Amino acid sequence: MSLFLEVVSVVEAVKAVQKIAPPPGCEDVPLEDALYRVLAKDVLADIDIPGFDRSTVDGYAVAAAETTGASEAIPAMLQCRGRIGMGSADAGSISPGSCRYVPTGGALPTGADAVVMIEHAEQIGDDILVHRPVAPGENVVFRGEDFGAGKVVLERGRVLSPREIGVAAAVGADRVSVVKMPRIGIISTGNELVPVAETPGAGEVRDANSYLAGAFVTERGCHPVYFGIVRDERPVLKRAVSSALDRCDAVLVSGGSSKDERDNTAAVLAELGKVLVHGIAIAPGKPTIIGTARGKPVIGLPGHPASAFVVLVAVVDHLLATMRQTAVSRRTVRARLTQNIPSTRGREDYVRVSTSGGEATPVFGKSGLLNTLVQSEGVVRIPASSEGFEVGEEVEVILW
Ligand code: AMP
Ligand code: MG
Repeated sequence: MSLFLEVVSVVEAVKAVQKIAPPPGCEDVPLEDALYRVLAKDVLADIDIPGFDRSTVDGYAVAAAETTGASEAIPAMLQCRGRIGMGSADAGSISPGSCRYVPTGGALPTGADAVVMIEHAEQIGDDILVHRPVAPGENVVFRGEDFGAGKVVLERGRVLSPREIGVAAAVGADRVSVVKMPRIGIISTGNELVPVAETPGAGEVRDANSYLAGAFVTERGCHPVYFGIVRDERPVLKRAVSSALDRCDAVLVSGGSSKDERDNTAAVLAELGKVLVHGIAIAPGKPTIIGTARGKPVIGLPGHPASAFVVLVAVVDHLLATMRQTAVSRRTVRARLTQNIPSTRGREDYVRVSTSGGEATPVFGKSGLLNTLVQSEGVVRIPASSEGFEVGEEVEVILW
């Protein structure tokens, strides 16, 4: 007989964590410290980018109309009025019948609206023979064409990857307003747990989950705070959760999340605050707790590292994204199943799979095996309404 009479769906669990995610506040940081932070305010272009009409090639700045009909046999002839220096404030002007040499990135002189690539021109003394016509705007980026002054370049909520950092630099954002990094307290509970540096004795296992959860929250732009291993004793766990609540914005407790009398997480949470969910219709990962204490989310993760990881991906990811005021970012691929995957209706199954060459192969293993975590590249989510997928079906693999 299941101890979990009131499991909620994954959708409900996700809604529950989104509802309790505390608003993080924001802070200003130098751009060089902003990698993977979430923008709290839009970044605007301070000036037109580029600030001047600019050549994209090495060549001759011309009035495009003067090259109409130019060919190898009958080139257009223009007089070259010297070179434009890089960074030069004054690119001068060209008059009808003339052109100026301009390097890549150089400013166009007044009167020019295109650039003939150097490969398509021939210099004879002061004259330039143009062998091909250019259209107006060819090989030119016009002032403000990239970003107009005052325009939004990066919207709030956007995660700053190296691409965004580069663009922010180009529009003068030497400091950016970002969402504060949530501090996530991490506790492992279990009398059998020993620190990773120790060799476990009989009946003991190493605390993998502190590292697993810590790395997961770090990868998602949060700051892990480690509270170590706590014995399965209610007062001890209560003290640990309480001090984690003092110092953090949310707390993850792994182990002791089931409904056995030795499992203390739900009882401790009920003493400190409120249990909102105890049991999710997800496999693996059913013994999961969602609650709040002192206005902060506390999540009880299953002890099995593979189950804990599935819950991190399926539920905690949404908590962290909401706290960071951004969207969950998932990399997915589509792949064809090499085997049937049966599933029980009414429960969302997360089946670990290895993928290669557009195929996904389920990595079945006994509950509790660690090797499935490293022998799989991701999971296939089987909705609660489905009885599974058949060999040959195309499925979405959530890469992890
Ligand atoms: P529990 O959720 O406490 O019932 O634990 C379920 C299983 O996960 C047990 O076999 C535990 O030994 C194992 N386990 C619990 N916590 C951890 C941990 N931090 N690291 C590795 N295994 C764990
Ligand atoms: Mg335990």
